[in-house]
Amino acid sequence: MAHHTIVLLPGDGIGPEVTHAAQGVINAAVEHTGGSIKWIEVPAGATAVEQGHDNVLPAITTDAIARHKVALKGPVTTPIGKGFTSVNVQLRKKLNLYAAIRPVRNLPGVKTRFENVDLVIVRENTEGLYSGLELEVAPGVVTSMKVATLVACERIAKYAFEYCRQRGRKKVSVFHKANIMKLTDGLFINTARRIRDASYPEIEYEEIIIDAGCMKLVTDPTKFDVLLMENLYGDLISDLCAGLVGGLGVVPGSNIGTDVSVFEAVHGSAPDIAGKGIANPLACIMSGVMMLNHIGERPAAKVIRSAYDRVLSEGKTLTRDLGGTASTSDFAKAIIAAFGPAGV
Ligand code: NAD
Repeated sequence: MAHHTIVLLPGDGIGPEVTHAAQGVINAAVEHTGGSIKWIEVPAGATAVEQGHDNVLPAITTDAIARHKVALKGPVTTPIGKGFTSVNVQLRKKLNLYAAIRPVRNLPGVKTRFENVDLVIVRENTEGLYSGLELEVAPGVVTSMKVATLVACERIAKYAFEYCRQRGRKKVSVFHKANIMKLTDGLFINTARRIRDASYPEIEYEEIIIDAGCMKLVTDPTKFDVLLMENLYGDLISDLCAGLVGGLGVVPGSNIGTDVSVFEAVHGSAPDIAGKGIANPLACIMSGVMMLNHIGERPAAKVIRSAYDRVLSEGKTLTRDLGGTASTSDFAKAIIAAFGPAGV
């Protein structure tokens, strides 16, 4: 019987609603398949300050993740145009969570414009325009520095190609704007091409200027397999791709480092629906499935995945974003009720 310790960051807005719903589903599945999880709940975001911490990302939180290596995280609210550095940016830099992996696929019963979408976004998570290096050079003139380093470009490219090889994926498409940002995006694509040519010749490879890439994505996303890109592009393209398969309620993610991994949905804290009990917990539950596979709890991951496929296909218990009226907890309970035998 395997026992695991997982750090839980409920976060802000809908974060506590969706993470606690996911926690219930994960606990039920792990018990169902003969394991157990001990959770260590720690604060992040506005919630941390409300709880009396002097920082939105207290040391207690980063220490717990560094010690236990795996975390499930809810979204956090970040003030716009003022205030503290984003918790997410701080967390990814402090724990060196250099690769964001976001699988985007059609789900049974979720009708969208396209069928057979099955792509994975690999986003560099530590630099680019997220360096936070902004400067007022003169009154009315401000700059923001885009950073690209060879180390980070090599690390993320190797991750993307290795991911393809291990999972039988066939093609990497690099989105870039190296026609304009010749040094930074130039380093990104030149590094990706060099690594692919030297070590991964069996993987099909293409470079696409990002504006044309957006048009191609919304015209026919089935042409894409693995998308590799720098930080800001990965952020934008993730939400665009979520829109192709049913919205932010259905796209999970992980932030992977050399030593530590933090699993979280692509969506934010959704202040417009927070506290109403109507958020879709599926993206967080799916992130939990990625986490269970990561820690070797594959039977539990499979039980949850089959169960949510069944609930979505039946279409009786769906949250509002998917056209239903079910609450966050109704949907989570329906998934648990749909568990099949362990190992099926
Ligand atoms: P958002 O993703 O929170 O919401 C965008 C839209 O999608 C909203 O209409 C929202 O109601 C809907 N939505 C999102 N998740 C949903 C779910 N699970 N179920 C149903 N509907 C859902 O984006 P935003 O409004 O631009 O950002 C809100 C806050 O979240 C900001 O402070 C932003 O900085 C933060 N944010 C945090 C993260 C993170 O912590 N990982 C990611 C993105 C945004």
